[in-house]
Amino acid sequence: LDKISSISLAVQRAKEAFLSGRTRPLEFRLQQLHALQVMITEKATEIATALKQDINRNEIKLATEKLREWAAPRPAEKNLLTISDEVYIQPEPLGVVLIIGAWNYPWALTLVPLIGAIAAGNAAVVKPSELSECSSLLLRALLPRYLDKDLYPVVTGGAPETQELLRLRFDHVFYTGSSTVGKVVMEAAAHHLTPVTLELGGKSPCYIDKNCDIRVACRRITWGKFVNCGQTCIAPDYILCEPCIQGRVVELLKDVPAHSRLMQDEIFGPVLPIVTVSDMDDAINFINEREKPLALYIFCSDKKAIKKMIEETTSGGVMVNDVMMHYALVSLPFGGVGQSGMGRYHGKHSFDQLSHHRACLVRSLGMESSTDFHSSSLPTLFHLLPALTTGH
Ligand code: NAD
Repeated sequence: LDKISSISLAVQRAKEAFLSGRTRPLEFRLQQLHALQVMITEKATEIATALKQDINRNEIKLATEKLREWAAPRPAEKNLLTISDEVYIQPEPLGVVLIIGAWNYPWALTLVPLIGAIAAGNAAVVKPSELSECSSLLLRALLPRYLDKDLYPVVTGGAPETQELLRLRFDHVFYTGSSTVGKVVMEAAAHHLTPVTLELGGKSPCYIDKNCDIRVACRRITWGKFVNCGQTCIAPDYILCEPCIQGRVVELLKDVPAHSRLMQDEIFGPVLPIVTVSDMDDAINFINEREKPLALYIFCSDKKAIKKMIEETTSGGVMVNDVMMHYALVSLPFGGVGQSGMGRYHGKHSFDQLSHHRACLVRSLGMESSTDFHSSSLPTLFHLLPALTTGH
């Protein structure tokens, strides 16, 4: 009970702090981003290897450099009837965001959305995974020492605590984890009509064309499969290839050079199934008959074939001739489609995802004659105008 009341207290405090308006000035957001940067720098040894691997410091640098540009009113095209008006889109904070992280990258999956939430001017309640307990406790101890204490509380705990949080009303829920819990999150959010971002997983296929450099392909796939013990949401899940190269693929994947990392560190459980297909069309059908994956990898040297495969399939992201590197490029939106998730983030995409894009039209009280149609034929015009005027 104590835990539950302290959870709602933290959420309440974040709400009140948000309503105080202190997240609105860009100066404040820049200062909080700076404090987060200081925390990461000062505590680098404590956060140690996890931090080194996970947190993308570039996200903070980018948000700091670009915040004024991202938060500025965005001019919108006008039509004839609004030619002398001020028309713009104003990104504004949503309110209090609930960030629920998964265990496999405990720092990146909480701090990267948090960077977006801070930049967009929101308060955020962070709920790291109970399975990465040490990181969660450290995050809970560190954040309030560096950031505003009320705006960004960390709530630790597992399913019961998360469900308790989900009973409360937030302005956005940003969830990373499995599809099964994703459904629980979305159902709970629906009660409050709260929008959600769901960063889920799934089976990411990896197609190897028979005419590509199979040695290079296998080396890159092996890296992607085994990094973080194979526990990466966008790791290649299985290989699709024609039977004529299957033997070579198997050979290349398991003939590990003695000096490789695989022979130095313990190999921790990852399994990479190989499914044979008769040709690229068959591979495309195989992919399309299943749930839309988070990532699709294509190893192929024929540009036409690559284009065809991209055009005839879908996935959260697609990468050709390597794996997972699209995650690290902040200009690309990261997120799933269908069962692999909804919404996107990284860089400016996080800012946009966690902002409300407010439509603003500011008209003067003058020039009454030019807007005379108010009294006469407005009702008809109102229905037809969007179709008749194309913004010019
Ligand atoms: P997890 O067990 O850490 O759960 C994720 C979060 O959900 C945790 O904070 C946990 O406390 C909470 N949770 C668990 N059960 C719950 C319940 N019944 N009710 C409410 N909350 C609950 O992580 P996981 O789900 O095992 O994560 C692994 C999955 O996440 C994989 O499918 C992986 O592909 C996916 N993933 C996706 C991304 C991405 O960016 N798309 C990144 C990492 C992991």
